[in-house]
Parts: sequence; structure tokens; C-alpha cells
Amino acid sequence: MLSIRLVDKEKNHRCHHHHDHHLSHHLGVDHDSQSISRQMGIVGLINLAFAGMELFFAGRFRSTALFSDAIHDLGDAIAIGLSWFFEKVSGLPADDQYPLGYRRFSLLGALISSSVMIVGSLIAITFGLLSLRDPWPVNSKGMLIVGVLAVFANLVSTYVLRGKDSVNGNMLNLHLLEDVLGWIAVILVALILQVTDWYFLDPLLSIGIGLTMLIKTVPTYLDICQIFLTGLPKSIELTRIYEAIEKVSGVSQIVTKTPITTDGRTLIMGLKIETALTSVEEQYRLKKQVKEQLESLDVRQSFIEIIPEKRQRLEGHQ
Ligand SMILES: [Zn+2]
Repeated sequence: MLSIRLVDKEKNHRCHHHHDHHLSHHLGVDHDSQSISRQMGIVGLINLAFAGMELFFAGRFRSTALFSDAIHDLGDAIAIGLSWFFEKVSGLPADDQYPLGYRRFSLLGALISSSVMIVGSLIAITFGLLSLRDPWPVNSKGMLIVGVLAVFANLVSTYVLRGKDSVNGNMLNLHLLEDVLGWIAVILVALILQVTDWYFLDPLLSIGIGLTMLIKTVPTYLDICQIFLTGLPKSIELTRIYEAIEKVSGVSQIVTKTPITTDGRTLIMGLKIETALTSVEEQYRLKKQVKEQLESLDVRQSFIEIIPEKRQRLEGHQ
């Protein structure tokens, strides 16, 4: 399963360490992002065309394994297409209708495509189990040809995306290389079926492909659901941010913390901070410092409230 925008846990760490580099991506490189976008469009189309072809030949060659891989590729094509589309929407600036911005749209594509993938994998497993009870002969030569073509198509896709310094492109690349393994399994089964009549191998492989899809997709799906339910994924490290804020001089303690994520990667932060500083100017300066610190930690937007320490508040009432 492919969820290009979301939950690469490693990526989250990387973003922080290569902040400058990350930033340069946002600034100067409209041209580059356009070209990666076009390439994703091309790869999406290759995948879509190929998935259609696979479905057709799966029926013709009576192979459930081909059918399962076809569904997988169809899911990939949908994922690429949707993320390509929603990527543009998710970059729009916040407005009255979407005050927190449009970033959650980038998750919508992943939600749809992972749903397709889960339904597809259940169908693949069911078909595999039904066919395993009474395996029928498949056209193993046809399977072999489709397998070889699929490996070729995946390699072309990886070539199109080669050397692109983009998280999306890299993840897609990695994913397509992983998919080659599935196709190599199809080729192996097709070769074995050339010399034997172990036709049960075809539905068995279909079940294997379905299970792999399911195991890969379900965690992603749950992560996306969590974010839609305004949860925070584990990949976002908050302690690091709180520690940095507590070190800002003037901060006594953080009383209330309200982190929000719209896309599972970037943060919006609400903080209520106690301080011993009494003058309005000092408190204002503190607020500014905290905001700057948060910005340097990739927090996209922040709401800071500075309040006097409890002791002072009580004294004030006397
Ligand atoms: Zn795939």
C-alpha cells in the first residue's frame, strides 16, 4: 500500500535534522516540484494502464495471483493519482472556511486509497481461499509474460523518478521496488507451473499477496483514522519541543499544552505558560521568544498565553 504523504516515521526525524535543506525545498523550487508532480502523474498513469491490463489478463489466464497483484497495482495507481491531486489542494493558505489550512486534504487521498487497498486485499484472500479448495489450471506462459512486463514497468517507473530529492518521490520509488518482489514471486510460480501441475501455488500466492497488502495497509489506515479523530501519531516527538520551551529564560512552567496536527506531520501548538516576569514588556518579549523557538522547531502556527506565577496571582488578590 502506498500513502505517499503520510506516515513515513523516519521522514519526520529527517525533517528536523535537515531543516535548512527542507526549507530550501519550500523556497526556491517551484520548477522542481512541478517536475516531480508531472513525473508522479506519469507514474500514476503507467500504474493505472498496467493495472487495467493485468486485470484483463488475470481473467484470460485464469490466474488469481495475477488478479491480486492487479488489485494491488490499481490501489497504487489510485493512491498516486489522489495524492497528486490533493497535494495541490493541501498547499492552499488557511481561510475562513478552513481556518487550520487545507493540509488534511493530503490525508484524504491516503484514506481513500488505503480503504480501496484493504477491500482489495480481502477480495484477493477470499478468491485465493475459494480457488485453493479446487485449484484450476492456469496459463503459466501468459503469467510469465505479464510478470516480466510488470517488473519492466516498475523499473521504468523507478527510472522516471530516479534521483529526485523529494520525500514523495523517494517513498514512491522504494515502494515500486518492493512491488518488484511480488512480481518476482509471480514469475517463479509461473516457471514452476511450466514443469509441474502444482496449480494450488497460484491461489496460494494470491493469498500471500493479499495478506502482505493487508498487513502493510492496516497500520497506515489506523494512523490516518487517528489523525482524522484529532489524535496525534506517535511519530511526532513532543518532549523535545516542551524541553526546548522550558529552557527559554523567563519560562517557569508550561501549564497547558494543546498540540494539534492536521496532516500527521506538521504541528500547531497552543501553550499556556507561567512566568515570574511581571512587566507587560517582559511578558511580551517572552511570548515572542517562545514563538520563535517553536518556529525553529517546525511548529507551523502557535497560540501562546503568558500568565503570572500562581504565587503572584494570589498575592495580587490580597
Ligand atoms: Zn504497490
